[in-house]
Amino acid sequence: MLITQKTVIGKEEWCSLPDLNLPAIKARIDSGARTSALHAENIHIYKSRGDQWVRFDINPLQKDRRTVVHCRAPLVEERDVKSSSGHTERRPVIEARLKLGEVVQTIQLTLTNRDSMGYRMLLGREAMQGRMLIDPEKSFLQGMLSEIEAKEFYRGRTGKEGGLRIAVLASNPELYSNQRLMEAGRERGHNMEFINIQHCYINISAEEPEIHYRGTEILAPFDAVIPRIRPAITFYGCAVLRQFEMMGAFCLNSSIGIARSRDKLRSLQMLASKGVPMPVTSFAHSPQETQELIKMVGGAPLVVKLLTGTQGVGVVLAETSKAAESLINAFKAVKADILVQEFIREADGKDLRCFVIDDKVVAAMQRIAPKGDFRANIHRGGAAVEIKLTSEERKIALHSARIMGLSVAGVDIIRSASGPKVLEINSSPGLEGIESVSGMDIAGLMIESIEKSVVKKRVKAAA
Ligand code: ADP
Ligand code: MG
Repeated sequence: MLITQKTVIGKEEWCSLPDLNLPAIKARIDSGARTSALHAENIHIYKSRGDQWVRFDINPLQKDRRTVVHCRAPLVEERDVKSSSGHTERRPVIEARLKLGEVVQTIQLTLTNRDSMGYRMLLGREAMQGRMLIDPEKSFLQGMLSEIEAKEFYRGRTGKEGGLRIAVLASNPELYSNQRLMEAGRERGHNMEFINIQHCYINISAEEPEIHYRGTEILAPFDAVIPRIRPAITFYGCAVLRQFEMMGAFCLNSSIGIARSRDKLRSLQMLASKGVPMPVTSFAHSPQETQELIKMVGGAPLVVKLLTGTQGVGVVLAETSKAAESLINAFKAVKADILVQEFIREADGKDLRCFVIDDKVVAAMQRIAPKGDFRANIHRGGAAVEIKLTSEERKIALHSARIMGLSVAGVDIIRSASGPKVLEINSSPGLEGIESVSGMDIAGLMIESIEKSVVKKRVKAAA
């Protein structure tokens, strides 16, 4: 009678470990072993809120290196385990729920990266605890999964062999640029994850840097992060990005580079100090200097720019000295930080967007302001056409990106009578305009840049 209450299992069975996010894993049943074991990689013990945790990667499907699951679990202890070959190894021990057929119970598992058993999981006698009986002649008595079915459980996680785990750190997954980056990464066999900046929060005091996500999850380390931080959340976004940097992710644009480029004044100061040509620009705080400011840039017409403005909002043209004066004083009255710039009339409402990746201008376009406006921003209704840059413009674009420390940059240049002048550097240049004008796969080039950099980083770490 007792026997019928026990679950009869064969020498191998499909089971699941829901706590570890492993819906299907094939286990070899081995009553000769006491504790169960998981074949894991990148095993790493760390501390969080005073508790010890262990994170690790698993390829849950045999002979499939593409499917990777990043797991984490509280560490129970570290234990010396003697393997069948007589070799003793110190292994982390974790606890997780096991589901095998109808049986659901919490079991202990040791983590090892020795693949000698051929199976990703080994079920020891402790886990059976008198609740299971083994029929060593048989297999899959609790249900068989075909290779395709098992794979189906892990859909969306598959990357190419050696595929990277890449985060697009942004706010809006619907945005053309973000969608293209996700798509380009997937096409190249990477595990792409969209991480919403607003849902990240960081534990600064943890001994190991960590990022919490949506309240419950702690993000496993990424190989690379593509920051696409909206200007409105630059401060918070850069703080989150720094945390990713500390966790060892390669970031396509560093938090420092982004913070620099978002501060119009700071970036112009940096560029000027390295001899990059730009329109004559002045900056002041107190209203007493308004006349001086206007004189400094050669009088009206002039352009007044809000330091925090983007996409052309907060860029105003003052045609006369009188208009300039009242405009500047109005901005100052509301304590807005502004800079005042000579107006490049001969640019005729056009500017150049140079898209730089890794010290190369990969594409360029000319933007043309809508009738009646001098601002060529696409968001202000500007049109875009392909353009051939002069070698000087190309040189200035590369130099500017390098000075800002950006590996991906949109460098905006205006053509003046006295040569090209840099207006600003964008650290999250949009992809829609430039891809449609150039017909190029810019998102793909960004992913390829990551691939190269991560390989370089790994080679360096191994040396
Ligand atoms: P934003 O960050 O809002 O895009 P920009 O400094 O890039 O601000 O200015 C927006 C647009 O206004 C530019 O793309 C350019 O077409 C025009 N513009 C900016 N500064 C000048 C200037 N000094 N002379 C002529 N046109 C300018
Ligand atoms: Mg601009």
